[in-house]
Amino acid sequence: MSIDAIQAALKTIKYPGFSRDIVSFGIVRNVLFEEGKATVALAITSSDSTIPEQIKTAVEEKLQSLAEVTTLEITLEAQEHKQPLKASKDKDALPSTLGGIKHIIAVASGKGGVGKSTTSVNLACALDQLLSAQGKENAVGILDCDIYGPSIPLMLGVNQRPYVENDLIIPLENFGIRTMSMGFLIDEDAPVVWRGPMIMKTLQQFATQVKWGELEVLIIDLPPGTGDTQLSLVQTFPLEAALIVTTPQTAAVNVARRGAMMFGKVDVPIMGVIENMSGIIDPVTREKESIFGEGGGLRTAQDLQTELLGQIPLDSHIRIGSDRGIPIVLSNPDAPATEEFLKIAQAVLEKCKSPTPVE
Ligand code: ADP
Repeated sequence: MSIDAIQAALKTIKYPGFSRDIVSFGIVRNVLFEEGKATVALAITSSDSTIPEQIKTAVEEKLQSLAEVTTLEITLEAQEHKQPLKASKDKDALPSTLGGIKHIIAVASGKGGVGKSTTSVNLACALDQLLSAQGKENAVGILDCDIYGPSIPLMLGVNQRPYVENDLIIPLENFGIRTMSMGFLIDEDAPVVWRGPMIMKTLQQFATQVKWGELEVLIIDLPPGTGDTQLSLVQTFPLEAALIVTTPQTAAVNVARRGAMMFGKVDVPIMGVIENMSGIIDPVTREKESIFGEGGGLRTAQDLQTELLGQIPLDSHIRIGSDRGIPIVLSNPDAPATEEFLKIAQAVLEKCKSPTPVE
């Protein structure tokens, strides 16, 4: 009998009320198995105080039913689920590392491949340009939480690893943008199924151990979907609002809506929708050909009762810029996509001054 077999048994236990198992929920922190003795460490954060005991009992029953397990030791670390912090109201409750950040905004999408990371990076560069013009230099950061494809450092041309000073991680910086990425902490070869459990711990580390310093805006690039990462994130960071990235196909509306729904549940307002891959613009006539259809962004915005902040065209320079580590906003200042990113950044800054009230 191996640790893997015990993990497999634990994977059959569902989190109460959910279809997901406790291993992929990140609750099983450690498993050991030696000479018939199984040791399992559980860490559970829940607002329902009965959940930790329910899970512990389920684990006991499951492992006791395995003939090879003769002794069982379960340790349980239970924490009460914290409500999301609101930056403006609970400044004092924030970890000191986040105290210098004025606005924290998540960039999310319902599914992968819609250009969420590309949008995060270019939006950060556009925000930096606008803020620099106001005399606020080096005032934008990006936290890359996309565990499944942490691509922000590459897109920003950052290829070193961050260093630690007095127990704090110093974010890396390029083009005046500070960045920290899950990719720096997660072993690239780690199978994706193992990354989920790591995320809560890593998010905590990002919130309390990264020396962000003074920032006007911190953009958080979320993994696609509606899963636990988003929930852990809103429990850890005082999110002011979320931006939703979608594509123009009308079929994308449902996917984007599902991606956005979680924010409603935790009272984080949607600041707006950004439509990406929104047709190709003829370089001479500047006319647009809508090869992926039309209306997805607008419909999504209407559906979420928010605004369509901009439509980024398909442009090979965007992809080339991402691969080279020079975002299009910096490499091609006159491109229609750059204009659009600047327009979106302007809207974001205006909305930061007066965030949409939560209904
Ligand atoms: P996501 O973060 O949603 O998974 P990415 O930002 O990694 O998506 O984008 C996926 C791929 O599409 C990347 O290769 C990126 O360079 C490319 N891409 C994204 N937006 C555009 C665009 N508007 N025009 C051309 N290529 C784009």
